[in-house]
Amino acid sequence: MTSRLDLPFDPTSCFIGGRWQPARDTLALSNPSTGELLAHIARGGVQEVDAAVAAAQAAMDGDWGRLTATERGRLLMKMSALVLAQVEMLAELEARDVGKPLKQGRADAVALARYLEFYGGAADKVHGETIPFANGYTALTLREPHGVTAHIVPWNYPMQIIGRSVGAALAMGNACVLKPAEEACLTAIAFTRIAEQAGLPPGALNLVPGLGEEAGAALAAHRGVQHISFTGSVAVGSLIQAAAAKNAVPVTLELGGKSPQLVFDDADLDAALPFLVNAGIQNAGQTCSAASRILVQRGVYDEVARRMAERYRALRVGPALDDPDVGPVISARQRDMVNGYLALAAERGVQVLAQPVLPDGPGYWVAPTLIGGVDGAHRLAQEEIFGPVQVLIPFADEAEAIAIANGTDYGLVAGVWTRDGARALRCARRLKCGQVFVNNYGAGGGIELPFGGVKRSGHGREKGFEALYGFSVLKTVAIKHD
Ligand code: NAD
Repeated sequence: MTSRLDLPFDPTSCFIGGRWQPARDTLALSNPSTGELLAHIARGGVQEVDAAVAAAQAAMDGDWGRLTATERGRLLMKMSALVLAQVEMLAELEARDVGKPLKQGRADAVALARYLEFYGGAADKVHGETIPFANGYTALTLREPHGVTAHIVPWNYPMQIIGRSVGAALAMGNACVLKPAEEACLTAIAFTRIAEQAGLPPGALNLVPGLGEEAGAALAAHRGVQHISFTGSVAVGSLIQAAAAKNAVPVTLELGGKSPQLVFDDADLDAALPFLVNAGIQNAGQTCSAASRILVQRGVYDEVARRMAERYRALRVGPALDDPDVGPVISARQRDMVNGYLALAAERGVQVLAQPVLPDGPGYWVAPTLIGGVDGAHRLAQEEIFGPVQVLIPFADEAEAIAIANGTDYGLVAGVWTRDGARALRCARRLKCGQVFVNNYGAGGGIELPFGGVKRSGHGREKGFEALYGFSVLKTVAIKHD
């Protein structure tokens, strides 16, 4: 089967043990900006997963396992340079595949390069310790790789998520099996080719595209996998955790969110406004850390609502290759799901404050929507919508803001906007989530900053140095010499 897209590679193969191997079947990808067929990708299954895990284990026992940490770091640096040289190609692939505006795809590609650079530089700086112990002994710890690690990633930020999980796992000397999402996986294939070009030994990175319930489930349940890194929905995350429990292997779950930004009366609104809106509409709101709830103190509520609505009305929605502010959502299913939530905004008391004009044409369009007058307990304020939809929730004081912010099942990220340093610290301590940003949101990507959730947003940490601890195990050695 041929691809409708002029790709610099054949997307219908899996990459196993350093060789591109055609899968027995293929899956169709569509272009979210047009709804048209984009390409066919490999539909890997149990057989491909078995072969990929075996190839990864062989790499651990072979050339890859024998590399020094410095040599692994250099390979990651080389991959980083190759990514940087191909930012435009990667951004264009992501625009066609995910519907992501070009500038956002470029930012993802640059972030991927930076992850590889960061983890390349860190590879030989993680080490064990010697421990004071009984007379006649020397006791020490060694940081070792888990072995074969599984990486199951979603479609919304393939490049960034691959960078933070595969990058860290390779730095620590693991051999990876990567299962990208069936909705969008062209940049995962391009990344794998870059690893091959950089000279990563065969089997260190294996790629098995395919359906979640086939390739994904087979990988999560595989007895040869020693660690699972999963990023995706809570529903699938629970299945992954159950599969990991069966084999008693560790798992990192990076799941969904309903992240709040808290705007106090004393906030610098000029600084806050772009972050308030952008954190809701970036990637058409299909972001785990999307700030989908904006909690605003009553003294500035009207001003924030008015100024956010102005920004919403000015948003340019359109095909990803035109580099709009907001592109399409990933699929017709996702569009219908988000529109189902928007139907709730027709209820009494809920106000749609702004919706920009949608393009004509067959893409998967959803109107970016700012909603006011929402109670913190409303479904719109409780459930992850995963579309360009933000709700504004008024609050009276700090205690109420914290109660609303903590009042969902999720706990991924929060933002706090205030000029009061003590209040900022109190909020940072009391918010139940994995990351708090004060007077910013997202900290420019924050590759160096540990990231992850609490509650149903998951557990374990990726990004920063912390990921290197997660992708390694500590071995204790006690030597009696006297
Ligand atoms: P998803 O859970 O449907 O799919 C994620 C991955 O899991 C895909 O590769 C899919 O093929 C695979 N999968 C599906 N069913 C499976 C199964 N039974 N066994 C094994 N693998 C299976 O999620 P999605 O819709 O692709 O992504 C959106 C979700 O991801 C949102 O909830 C979002 O918040 C979350 N997310 C979280 C983070 C984070 O860092 N916390 C980052 C991005 C996305």
